[in-house]
Amino acid sequence: SLLTRARFFVSAARLDQLPPPGAPEVCFVGRSNSGKSSAINVLAGQKRLAFSSRTPGRTRLINLFSLPDPIDPEQALGFLVDLPGYGYAEVAHKEMAHWGDVLGRYLRERSALAAVVLMLDIRRGLTEQDRNLVHWIAPTQRPVLVLLTKADKLPYGQRMRAVAAIRKELDELGTLRVIPFSATHRIGIEEATTSIETWISP
Ligand code: GDP
Repeated sequence: SLLTRARFFVSAARLDQLPPPGAPEVCFVGRSNSGKSSAINVLAGQKRLAFSSRTPGRTRLINLFSLPDPIDPEQALGFLVDLPGYGYAEVAHKEMAHWGDVLGRYLRERSALAAVVLMLDIRRGLTEQDRNLVHWIAPTQRPVLVLLTKADKLPYGQRMRAVAAIRKELDELGTLRVIPFSATHRIGIEEATTSIETWISP
């Protein structure tokens, strides 16, 4: 599939270091520890493409993964964009403000941005910062897919109740698609893959 051809393309510490906008980008956002890197890795069918927020180094950066055209691998059909995780209590206020600025500007100004994938831990639901983020994304009119991660941690009935409750809360904020997801138990992978591939090459 398109996503399993993903490969590391470039890292950027600032928005002005990103390559000029070209092929469609689907960005991944979520709190630190929300399961963002696990989701990217399982969708790409690769163990260590994206790095966990617990791994120091590349996680403070914006990481781009290209999806090469099978006919001409030098050409990217699209990009997956891994944005830095947020919400670590230890992160200094100043750094949080910088991060919010980077993310807000990426979401508002990046013309190549086609859609957003937001990771939320199914057991935690939305935090204050997740709500702020959804408020930033809404006016950009981009489609949003919400992956309720680590769904395997809840038994089926509780899982479905959590999905319904979070859907209800997000419903008021716009048209968001909300699905249960598990990287370890492979829940929601086909549905997420189909959405992302459609956004990249309709
Ligand atoms: P990130 O910081 O948002 O990139 O989160 P990670 O992908 O590194 O995941 C954070 C923690 O949650 C790690 O200990 C993962 O092993 C765990 N985790 C991630 N996805 C799942 C999942 O689908 N199921 C379970 N049970 N644990 C998960």
